[in-house]
Amino acid sequence: MSGTTIDEKLANIPALGTEIAETSWAFHDGDFTKLADAKVSIATHALNYGTGVFEGIRAYWNAAREQLYVFRLRDHFARMERSCRIMRIALPGDPDALAALTLDLLRRNGFRTDVYVRPLAYKAARSIKVALDGLRPGFSMFAFPLGAYLPTNGLTASVVSWRRTPDNAIPARGKLTGAYINTALATDEAHDEEADEAIFLTQEGHVSEGGSSNIFVVRDGELATPPVTADILEGITRQSIMRLARERLDLRVVEREIDRTELYIADEVFFCGTGAQVAPCVSIDHRTVGDGRIGPITRSIGDLYFAVAHGDDDAYPEWRSAVYR
Ligand code: PMP
Repeated sequence: MSGTTIDEKLANIPALGTEIAETSWAFHDGDFTKLADAKVSIATHALNYGTGVFEGIRAYWNAAREQLYVFRLRDHFARMERSCRIMRIALPGDPDALAALTLDLLRRNGFRTDVYVRPLAYKAARSIKVALDGLRPGFSMFAFPLGAYLPTNGLTASVVSWRRTPDNAIPARGKLTGAYINTALATDEAHDEEADEAIFLTQEGHVSEGGSSNIFVVRDGELATPPVTADILEGITRQSIMRLARERLDLRVVEREIDRTELYIADEVFFCGTGAQVAPCVSIDHRTVGDGRIGPITRSIGDLYFAVAHGDDDAYPEWRSAVYR
């Protein structure tokens, strides 16, 4: 990785280094439309105040089966419904209906590659009233091809000076558009430090999560991850990994407070998320994690996660929604 700047690395990840192409089908204002035609007014409440909620969903192309599998599709819309409850936004359908809509959108696009799906529910009213109640909602969704979001071959991380937004200020539990300013500030600081991913601490100074991912540490064969009360997004990948580790790898997994210096002495550290997938971390704050190579537990978890998500491993069929019949 040496000799390559963060910008050069990101430029190599399609759809991260460049703007998303607008030729695909999207869903906007109750209809399918080309992404290029899905527009909002500049007076839109959510554009002015960040009053939206969103999801990030991955679908993996399985070439051998000629099938596109969406990972934990319904669970993402169940979380979106919970985010909307915090933000007092009404969705146009229940999680089952929105899952069916997503499959329609992916089919209409005919994708035969790994894709990322972005549903967005927001305060669509043209209003400058700073409040949540009584503002007209909007719902949109688009999808685009996406490979890795973070490097998966051993990344570097930096504990940033920005603290994770506390629950009683801007709740990290909700996937709220405006709250991602916190991530953007942290990510820039990490990149300025030549690190790939940020690590947030809570206001109290315990480990919270990555900039756009949850974090696990391995100590003496045990997996630990911060609890849902550590101002984290309650990640779907995090929950999947806890189950895979316990049920398939017979590992002990605990949710507990984690100190900053535990990151420096851990045997293994990895990030996880829909975008991040399973991203092993080999260096934190210029200290080598373990022996500087991807550890055996991280590797087993990564391999298992990718196999299950791609449908190469038949376990957990309820986690995969097939796009094509
Ligand atoms: N934390 C943050 C701040 C995130 O943006 C994400 C990505 N959605 C995650 C954690 C991981 O969540 P999930 O596994 O549900 O994608």
